[in-house]
Amino acid sequence: MAMNMFRSVILGAPASGKGTISSRIVNKFQLDHISSGDKLRLQIKNKTAIGNEVSKYTSTGKFVPDDIMIKFIMNEINNARGPWLLDGFPRTRSQCEALWTQQPLDLAINLVVPFEVIIDRVKNRWVHLPSGRVYNIDFNAPKVAGKDDVTGEALTQREDDKPEVVQRRLEDYQMKTQPVIDFFREKGILEDFEGRTSDEIWPKVLECLIRHIPIQLTSQQNV
Ligand code: AMP
Repeated sequence: MAMNMFRSVILGAPASGKGTISSRIVNKFQLDHISSGDKLRLQIKNKTAIGNEVSKYTSTGKFVPDDIMIKFIMNEINNARGPWLLDGFPRTRSQCEALWTQQPLDLAINLVVPFEVIIDRVKNRWVHLPSGRVYNIDFNAPKVAGKDDVTGEALTQREDDKPEVVQRRLEDYQMKTQPVIDFFREKGILEDFEGRTSDEIWPKVLECLIRHIPIQLTSQQNV
């Protein structure tokens, strides 16, 4: 398979390490990272026609309607000059079908991190709201428990990071993503990558990509 034909997608729950794994992939293999959320945020920031149209959905956490989303992302894909990694699209069965008709994928990377690991990770996250500094009790603890290193002010926990909220978000993700997972599994291109951390998952993803992408065409960069 020619490198420029390589088409892939990455699936993973919120805080599963999808961002970390995606950036390692795009650095190592020089793929175009097509993140639907990032692309939409850029449109919104630039106040384009599409940005104005979608902001009413994104601002309330609702899915952008399929017809708008499909047109927008297929256009981004068709503009890509090399291989790509989709992120955040497709999210519904009809997005899967539209994508598959026009651009069948080679690989769907599914990150599988136990929910209790994600909840635990997020539970230990504390922020200093005025500066946005983020700490994690496990691997980036503040010098004094509960206090910001720079100002000594109190740290707080985001409402979104509370275990019960994270649990709900994960359940919502699972319910909404199941049809997408089923679709790619039926097509025979879904690969599950299980682990508790990105460092545990990454070597497995790397090994799989090396099997799919001719090695002489990968970047020399060490990740
Ligand atoms: P994300 O950063 O991937 O969570 O995307 C941010 C927001 O963009 C979502 O909450 C949706 O409103 C919208 N969005 C991104 N991707 C899609 C998609 N594939 N289908 C529908 N809406 C999407």
